Amino acid sequence: MGAPGPGGRFGEFGGRFVPESLVAACAEVEEAFKEAWDDPLFHRELDGILADYGGRPTPLTECHRLSVKLGVNVLLKREDLAHTGSHKLNNVIGQALLTKRMGKQRMIAETGAGQHGVATATAAALMGLECAVFMGDVDMKRQELNVYRMELLGAEVHRVSSGSRTLKDAVNEAMREWVASVGTTHYCLGSVMGPHPFPYMVRELQRVVGDESREQYRRLRGGADPDVVVACVGGGSNAAGTFAGFVETDARLVGVEAAGGAAIARGIPGVLHGMHSRLLQDEEGQILEAHSISAGLDYPGIGPEHAHLAAMGRATYEQADDGEVLSAFRLLAEYEGIIPALESAHALAWVVREAGRAIPAGSSVLVTLSGRGDKDVAQVRALIGGA
Ligand SMILES: *Cc1c(COP(=O)(O)O)cnc(C)c1O
Repeated sequence: MGAPGPGGRFGEFGGRFVPESLVAACAEVEEAFKEAWDDPLFHRELDGILADYGGRPTPLTECHRLSVKLGVNVLLKREDLAHTGSHKLNNVIGQALLTKRMGKQRMIAETGAGQHGVATATAAALMGLECAVFMGDVDMKRQELNVYRMELLGAEVHRVSSGSRTLKDAVNEAMREWVASVGTTHYCLGSVMGPHPFPYMVRELQRVVGDESREQYRRLRGGADPDVVVACVGGGSNAAGTFAGFVETDARLVGVEAAGGAAIARGIPGVLHGMHSRLLQDEEGQILEAHSISAGLDYPGIGPEHAHLAAMGRATYEQADDGEVLSAFRLLAEYEGIIPALESAHALAWVVREAGRAIPAGSSVLVTLSGRGDKDVAQVRALIGGA
């Protein structure tokens, strides 16, 4: 997966659909990132922090018991073991370094479930930056503990009461605040979405997941590549980073969306949050609410590069429903002693369903475990009871 075409296009998707007041801000980020990404010193600093602070490289774990049960060889890329419990740290550390490089002192971010807000607040604390996080009123009530975490980390959490008072509205509000404070503030966007250069930049910052996985797998298997590479898709950053490592191999690439938020399967091309992509919308073009058991996948769109990979047929996008996700969540806990994030359990759920079917028996499957499930334990307990 290379750089996007002119104007930040991935095929017909992507672009930079922003008000005049943000065109220069996006161009500044594009320029700063290009310079940083070409600078070995930037990489040395980023890699150093991700190693000594973030815990990279994260391991590749072979699931011996689960593999026997499913009849396919399952390996997990363990982003759950990165600091703050998911792949999100890879993105925010990179953007925090970029913020300082641009001479800015403040980061703002949107958050739905709160995970990206916590990650951004973490990076800001580490680097001595101010941090403000925009969060819908509904999400603040659902994710009280993450609001408190952000405050502990020194961030200001701004309640968003417009629209549906969820993630979509938080992004709008963060963009508005960026317009108002662009001289001092960087908008640390949380996934491979939004206006160019964010979909490209965030994918590059997450490609460490795919690059590490490929090398770890080759070391383990005498230079071979896995047959299938699977990741869950919300905005699409952990999947994009994973796919970047394998797009030039023969591996089949599969993204798994929540059945209630399937922007590839049921989305219509349109413009939202500065990008042209596939979006859940009604006949009048009103954006629909996404629904999923995991708040981290409740986004009505998908990163434009995924829409492009789907259009080209290089990656396919499947769905998992809430019931399958809960079963996969329990299965991994019981068979491997790993409690996955509900988001990550979507990727596993597809593997469980398709082992011996779309995934031929005996195949090797690399699954990105995007995060750990501690944050979801209370919710799962309330849903399925027991213990
Ligand atoms: C945020 C999150 C996701 C969804 O975001 P992507 O940009 O699609 O990767 C998936 N898994 C976990 C654990 C998350 O925290």
